[in-house]
Amino acid sequence: MTLSRIDRLEQDLRAWLLRTPALSLASSLGAEDMVITDLICRKNLPIRIFTLDTGRLPEATYRLLDRVFEHYGRRIEVFWPALEDVEKLVREQGVNGFYHGLAARRACCGARKVKPLARALSGQQGWITGLRRDQSPTRSDLAAEAWDEGHGLVKYSPLLDWSREEVWSVLKEYRVPYNALHDQGYASIGCAPCTRAVQPGEDERAGRWWWESSDSKECGLHVASEAETAIQES
Ligand code: SF4
Repeated sequence: MTLSRIDRLEQDLRAWLLRTPALSLASSLGAEDMVITDLICRKNLPIRIFTLDTGRLPEATYRLLDRVFEHYGRRIEVFWPALEDVEKLVREQGVNGFYHGLAARRACCGARKVKPLARALSGQQGWITGLRRDQSPTRSDLAAEAWDEGHGLVKYSPLLDWSREEVWSVLKEYRVPYNALHDQGYASIGCAPCTRAVQPGEDERAGRWWWESSDSKECGLHVASEAETAIQES
């Protein structure tokens, strides 16, 4: 099962490279993105890998960035928010304003994630994500290949139908470096002040923005909307 999933993933990545040679993996450094990162590095595929440093990431995530370099000899590109955007945000809502309402939280994600993502994707023809459908209700309608109108490129999500167990089976089998917070009950890892461990039986993204209702738990990077048109369902 594991090998066929990995073979299929490699086949997909190689096919997408032919179709959209300027191709990037937008990595959150989460477990799913590490599966794709490992394959790209082991097979030496010419796919750019970048991550967004919001300035509020957990220390364990920074340590993982270093471990990726030690393990693969390859640096993940890091994109930061614009200085003036962060200063304006903090001036308007304080350093932890995101706790005070959905609009404030989205403004923070907008400045620290959404705008840097747009900059990172500039000039690219396609981007790859490690999304899985069963991570949360907000991800159940995503397509494996979609035209991302907002960024003007194709968005690929090759792990959509993978289970969490399949992801971890690959990580263990290939001894892939992963975020140490996963061993402390963190299923999905984002910024430190907006992420906590989940309890057994909870939704995988229950630890993200836990003070909000489950239908709003996206940072604006991955919402399937009219701005994304499915090319292939799965
Ligand atoms: S996850 Fe939290 S700290 Fe990070 S950008 Fe979004 S609101 Fe801001």
